[in-house]
Amino acid sequence: MNQKAHLVGGLILATAAMLAGCPPLTASLIVFGGLFCDLDIVDIPVSSQGVHRRLLHNVFVAGAVGVLSYWVPFLMYWLMGMCLHIAMDMFSSSPVYVLWPVPHRGNQIGIGGWGVSNDSIGSFPVGCLVALLFSAGYLVGTDHFWEVVELGKRLLEYIFP
Ligand SMILES: [Zn+2]
Repeated sequence: MNQKAHLVGGLILATAAMLAGCPPLTASLIVFGGLFCDLDIVDIPVSSQGVHRRLLHNVFVAGAVGVLSYWVPFLMYWLMGMCLHIAMDMFSSSPVYVLWPVPHRGNQIGIGGWGVSNDSIGSFPVGCLVALLFSAGYLVGTDHFWEVVELGKRLLEYIFP
């Protein structure tokens, strides 16, 4: 997914978190967590195949942030941003190596690649759709979904009386 889609996707999820009662500064960590994953785009000679979609897109880094959030609770929002980023990347045309660096029969395990390429015009809307579904799942999980639906209805009634 391209960076514009990750930025807007993070903002969508941060908005959902704020509607669920999260303070804005804390919710902003979702956006930063989402953008953080792609710092592995730099060329580090750790793997002959490069480290993009590997070094900061795997369950071990996400799990480490999750463990740290036990002591620093607001890191859970950073983790949410990382998880959204990884989910969005799965719907681009290249897989995400979520178990990197663990090999399976000599190969790395790539998951995803189900969607559109990053330079496609469809990348942004697909990314936003994934972010909307992810955010809806978050609102259902935090029991705020119908509250936000009601808020949306009232907003529409205000705009279109
Ligand atoms: Zn990525």
